[in-house]
Amino acid sequence: MGFKLPELQYSYNALEPWIDATTMEIHHSKHHNAYVTNLNKALEGNPAAEWTIEKLMTEISKYPAPVRNNGGGHYNHSLFWKIMGPQKGSPNGVVADAITAKWGSFDKFKEAFSTAAVSRFGSGWAWLIKKDGALEICSTPNQDNPLMDIAEVKGTPLLALDVWEHAYYLKYQNKRPDYIAAWWNTINWDVVNSLWK
Ligand code: MN
Repeated sequence: MGFKLPELQYSYNALEPWIDATTMEIHHSKHHNAYVTNLNKALEGNPAAEWTIEKLMTEISKYPAPVRNNGGGHYNHSLFWKIMGPQKGSPNGVVADAITAKWGSFDKFKEAFSTAAVSRFGSGWAWLIKKDGALEICSTPNQDNPLMDIAEVKGTPLLALDVWEHAYYLKYQNKRPDYIAAWWNTINWDVVNSLWK
């Protein structure tokens, strides 16, 4: 029982050449798997072990650090895998339309989001969220996310970008901006649009 590592809906090499197969395999089968294992350990005997991960995020302030770190890790990575895929295609649909309406062009949005991702000091995530019906860019440290009740900026995540070094170091070493530039090619806009609620 408890939380489970979700299967990827594509193979480890499906995001090549943007994200290499070795990085994907280690990231999913080792890093994400460890978050799930440690979350289940931290919640042993706790009713929250049977909740959805989203519900746990909204009450995370009531739990100790291992639940926050590993629970966040589980939610963040589950979403990260979901919004990527081998499908090629330019931004389209309700989210792309809302992006263009807010930032003027997709390129301007890309620039703002990339800046948030590049400038996140140390480990963390960059996010596009829907907050009170409007889009917003934010970033979080470590494995925090905008669903958490302790988050500085709260909202529903539509895009999630992992900027921990384990997400890119094998292929891109210290060049986080190159990894971010490549990542735009991996987004599955059908899934992103399905998150708009
Ligand atoms: Mn990661």
